[in-house]
Amino acid sequence: MKAEVLTVGTELLLGQILDTNSLFLSKKLAEIGIDLYFKTSVGDNVERVQQALSTACLRADVVIITGGLGPTVDDVTRESVAKFAGSTLVTDEKSLRGIEEYFAKRSLRMPENNRKQAKFPDGAIVMENPNGSAPGFILEHGQNILIAMPGVPSEMYPMMEKQVMPYLVRKMGKVPMTIRSRSLRVMGMGESLVDEAIQDLFKNSTNPTIGVYAHDADIEIRLTAKAPDAAKAADMIEKLREKIAERLGANVIGEDDDTIEDAAGRELKRLGFTLSTAESCTAGLVAHTITAVAGSSEYYIGGINSYANRIKNSMLFVPEELLEKYGAVSEECAAAMAAGCNRAFKTDAAISVTGIAGPGGGSAEKPVGLVYIGVDIRGKNGVFKRNFGGSRKAIRNRAAQTALFLLYQQLKDIVK
Ligand code: AMP
Ligand code: MG
Repeated sequence: MKAEVLTVGTELLLGQILDTNSLFLSKKLAEIGIDLYFKTSVGDNVERVQQALSTACLRADVVIITGGLGPTVDDVTRESVAKFAGSTLVTDEKSLRGIEEYFAKRSLRMPENNRKQAKFPDGAIVMENPNGSAPGFILEHGQNILIAMPGVPSEMYPMMEKQVMPYLVRKMGKVPMTIRSRSLRVMGMGESLVDEAIQDLFKNSTNPTIGVYAHDADIEIRLTAKAPDAAKAADMIEKLREKIAERLGANVIGEDDDTIEDAAGRELKRLGFTLSTAESCTAGLVAHTITAVAGSSEYYIGGINSYANRIKNSMLFVPEELLEKYGAVSEECAAAMAAGCNRAFKTDAAISVTGIAGPGGGSAEKPVGLVYIGVDIRGKNGVFKRNFGGSRKAIRNRAAQTALFLLYQQLKDIVK
């Protein structure tokens, strides 16, 4: 079975809202093995919705439509579908009562134009909407199935899962194939380096397929398998995942929605270590990020936002002479900040960040984007020099993410 998704709404074309419905529908169709070849968006216009339906029906068996089922004049999906299918709109009494109840329950007067929402193309299967006023419908039209659902995501999602998917599975007899994905998250390597490292697996693999996607903070390697059932798909993914994880080693920070703060937190917990932070150029961003993880109080003790040299000296024990001789943005300062931080907080591990976030303040010797990150774990001190590109915001974000990644890598090597 082939499907096309048709999202209706002028706001989608004007760049006012993002079409997240088709994203959701793509995933759901993949779960039940329905191929999706096209997604179309069209404005609230009877002529053009009909045109879109006509094209969709030529290349797909099922057309899944969202949006335009509201009560207002600009909501034209039901009229357009009826016109396209050559059927008339008839009132469904049960739906009308449902809509009346929906308003009564909320002690609201039902405006006259909500009656429109109880009208469906003759012969359509009506789908109740317990989460809103617009019911959906399914119209079997010749070789095609036209399915219309409301645009509001909180109404559409349950309608898709509870009514449309079971209907489609019944139509097919069984789920022919399921598509499942799992991701590995990688840091400390560029996209091309990752590509190079796993290229051979990549080239020879059509099922599962491998996709490499660069995000702001990390790189995602997504493995997608098509199989008769979820367990088989999981099994196929696992075999390939193991191979990739082995090759990329400690650059793999986690899976699916894992972040570097999750990964670093896990390592701290594993070792029973505490952490503190000393931040100059990121001024608390590392602390903010690490504490975004629920339960971080188990290992995170505190931090010093040591923007001024005076604070680096008085609170982190960085010698004045060191600051004068090498400057605040230096390997020496980063090392001293991290060591001083462990001393001040009596922690096992400390991270320090000092750098030039720009846009001003750079020099030939110390350009904007130069950042030193110190990691001190029980007296074992390492400093890492990085040159980040981008805006002030990007440089600070990258510095914070990298700091956590370096901590993670150091911790990962420690055998408990
Ligand atoms: P409608 O059913 O066209 O009246 O749409 C109602 C609301 O649903 C809109 O105001 C949007 O906020 C939302 N909506 C409609 N279409 C989409 C879509 N494709 N993706 C995400 N939200 C949508
Ligand atoms: Mg609309």
